[in-house]
Amino acid sequence: MVILGSSLTVIAIISIVTFLLIREHANAQQAATRSATTIAQLIDADVLRTVELYDLTLQGLIAASQRDDLKQVSPQIRHLVLFDRSTTARFKADIRLLDKHGEVLADSSLIEPKAGNFADRDYFLAHADNRDSDMFISQPFKPRCDCNDNEEWQISFSRRISSATGEFLGVAVASMRLSYFDQLFNSLNMSPGSALSIINDDGILLAQKPHLINDSVGKSFASRPNVQRILRERSGSFDSVSSIDHHQRLYTFSRVGNLPLTVIVALSGNEVFAAWKRTALVISGATGVLCIGLLWLTWLLCRELRLRHTAEQELAQLAATDALTGVANRRMLDQTLRHEWFRAQRSGKPLSVLMIDADHFKAFNDQHGHPAGDDALRALAKVITDNVRRPADLVARYGGEEFSVVLAETDSAGAQQIAEHIRLAVEQLPCVTGVESPITVSIGISTWSTTMDTSLEQLLFAADKALYQAKESGRNRVVAA
Ligand code: GH3
Ligand code: MG
Ligand code: MG
Repeated sequence: MVILGSSLTVIAIISIVTFLLIREHANAQQAATRSATTIAQLIDADVLRTVELYDLTLQGLIAASQRDDLKQVSPQIRHLVLFDRSTTARFKADIRLLDKHGEVLADSSLIEPKAGNFADRDYFLAHADNRDSDMFISQPFKPRCDCNDNEEWQISFSRRISSATGEFLGVAVASMRLSYFDQLFNSLNMSPGSALSIINDDGILLAQKPHLINDSVGKSFASRPNVQRILRERSGSFDSVSSIDHHQRLYTFSRVGNLPLTVIVALSGNEVFAAWKRTALVISGATGVLCIGLLWLTWLLCRELRLRHTAEQELAQLAATDALTGVANRRMLDQTLRHEWFRAQRSGKPLSVLMIDADHFKAFNDQHGHPAGDDALRALAKVITDNVRRPADLVARYGGEEFSVVLAETDSAGAQQIAEHIRLAVEQLPCVTGVESPITVSIGISTWSTTMDTSLEQLLFAADKALYQAKESGRNRVVAA
């Protein structure tokens, strides 16, 4: 019970601590997700505003390009009117007006546009094939080598120019340098090991801070499981291992408005769970010590209880045993006799009692001394015990040189047989500790059976009387009452 109780207590303590730690872990993750969501929303808002400015620029450019009166004014005025709204767009690169063959009609950087054909560009092909007038965002690209900032990545925003009947007339396209995202990411303070990224719907990276791998801008990450999940779920949060640097990260991601762009805030797992890990370590350690202490105390208690139980058993044994001969003592005899008496009354089976007395033992003592007498009593006890074999039977020292045997479920004939065996065995004892004098015993038997109406005291008295008769009629004999 003690072991079971303390084991259950230990299990309960460990369960409670585990539950609390799991809850704290979830709380830490929730708090980190909240702050990551805030960062993603800040980025979303800024990107949306910037893209909106580019869209306004395109719409202004298309509206101006469709005015017939603009053909009459000087190239300078025309340039000014066409690109009037583009001044507000941040990180802008070239803004161009293309005709239906992809030829440059107007260029924001030059009043007299440089000849060039952009019919092979993804945005041009998309608008030529598609009649809807939505803004298109291109894949990231590096401008052709002959332009000024040839090293910088860009994306372009474009809209189709259509006639009133929907016929394709050309494309208005505005490019933006991707350093815009770097500047935006730099304005946000991120913990070490965390990363900010923006990808398009094809899983192509537009910007990242810090760069987890070199030259990653413009590359597709669509095959990575984490990116696949982000593109599929569009916005949310999950805990995963980065396939790039194999660090545990908490990914929080959201789509930028209706644009084909997704912002990913990847917080370092080490940072997010650092405080939780410290707490978990202290609490687990303390709980471990507590549980080990509890189990140790239980072990000590069990050991003490076992020792006490053994001592009690030894005491009980001593209290029931005769010190000289090792057989049951008088107390045990009385107890067993009462017990067997009531049992016989209930079961109706006979009960026999032998009273055994050593003959002329006073003389033996006088002749050989008390120590030899003691040895003789021990030898007698052993002979009697050897001849009484059933577990329910009891051999006891009644007192002095007298022994009693309680024979449960034994009738008079059986008792006489056993008594005779004892008597013979004593008679045949070769010698007792070197003393050559023979020892004999007289035995009185009384048996209770259902036909008799006697008490326990009368049964004992009858055995005593039978013994007296055995003495009277010459000793070394068995007399049944
Ligand atoms: P009887 O044949 O009539 O029984 O004669 P007895 O001498 O055996 O009987 P009695 O009652 O006269 O003497 C019993 C003797 O048993 C007295 C004592 O010297 C001896 N005795 C009793 N207890 C012990 C004991 O514990 N050790 C020893 N050595 N002798 C004992
Ligand atoms: Mg006697
Ligand atoms: Mg005697």
